Amino acid sequence: MINTERIRQVIRERRNELITLTKDLIKFKSISGKEDDISEYIQDFFKSIDFYVRSIDKNIITCEKRENKDAKLILNGHMDVVPAGSFWDYPPFDPQITDGKIYGRGSCDMKGGLASMMTAIKVLHDLGIDMGSDIVFTATVEEEIGGLNGTGRIIDYLNGDMCVIAEPTDLNICIGHKGSNIYEITVKGKSAHGSMPHLGKNAIYYASRMIVALEDFKFDIEDSLLGKPTINVGKITGGTEVNVVPDRCIFEVDRRTIPEEDGESVFYELNRIIDREKVDGIEIDTKKVIEMLPVKVSEDEKVVKLLKKSTKEVFGYEKPTTSIDGCTDARFFIDRKIPTVIFGPGKKDCAHVSNEFINIEDLIDASSSFASLILNVIKEE
Ligand SMILES: [Zn+2]
Repeated sequence: MINTERIRQVIRERRNELITLTKDLIKFKSISGKEDDISEYIQDFFKSIDFYVRSIDKNIITCEKRENKDAKLILNGHMDVVPAGSFWDYPPFDPQITDGKIYGRGSCDMKGGLASMMTAIKVLHDLGIDMGSDIVFTATVEEEIGGLNGTGRIIDYLNGDMCVIAEPTDLNICIGHKGSNIYEITVKGKSAHGSMPHLGKNAIYYASRMIVALEDFKFDIEDSLLGKPTINVGKITGGTEVNVVPDRCIFEVDRRTIPEEDGESVFYELNRIIDREKVDGIEIDTKKVIEMLPVKVSEDEKVVKLLKKSTKEVFGYEKPTTSIDGCTDARFFIDRKIPTVIFGPGKKDCAHVSNEFINIEDLIDASSSFASLILNVIKEE
């Protein structure tokens, strides 16, 4: 009789496999756009256990058997990482183990999560659990740069009752995050000789006033789970020479959104704030670069209940539901009406930093939780 207790025991016995797999994945320098080799490796992993494997532009969709029906559960993770940056005490792509932690770029975000899901599936397969096409695993590219070529590319090939993404949540059940709308604002003024600034319209000055107005803006809406929206001006370019009055200044705004808002109202509000600083001779052009929708799943959704049940069987207590700060590929699934939660090993403040690590115990707990979830989903009729 296979239950969560037995699964935990088996995964603990096979912990070295899980550690080796995690280390193998970290060794691929799979910075967004360079996922070819890690994709091959993961495809081979599933082919070696006779899974059906489909590859779409390096993205992977795999399940035990190819049957023409919708999945009960989709498991998802991204294969790409952000560049290593500097100030590492450990080699970022040659994973090292110290004090029960594996150090390396992507250990936390999110090769540890991928390895936990892959191990859970393999262990259940080895134990003879029939997952058929009810459980579908997907590994995708370019999440760190927007996900359009990754989950955004394969979402047309996926259908399922629910989805779990193994981004780092410190093993809490994350049911939501804010959206992110990126805008590029071009302020056009009038150039003049730097010795006669009164003859021009200095685009940098006017852009600066708009930026301060955005900084000072107070939101009067709030979401019970996600809090208030935020604004960050993250990039600015303008001017050509120090002795020329600049006729152009461009700044980029990252506006984090909550479900109570829509793209149109956010765009209108942004323009209202900056238009107040507009004078004759100044033109403003606001362009939406990207819109990533916020995610919020009801506590009553089956995926939340099943994950609560499964993690309780692993940890012995009910895991709280929570939200995370960053955006994830969950929005692509939510957009297709597939309820999606985020649950995975790794501290959230450990992603994208130097000396990124994952606790080995957390890998084991995560893998056990995914295996328990798969069992509970299969049992559900
Ligand atoms: Zn991630």
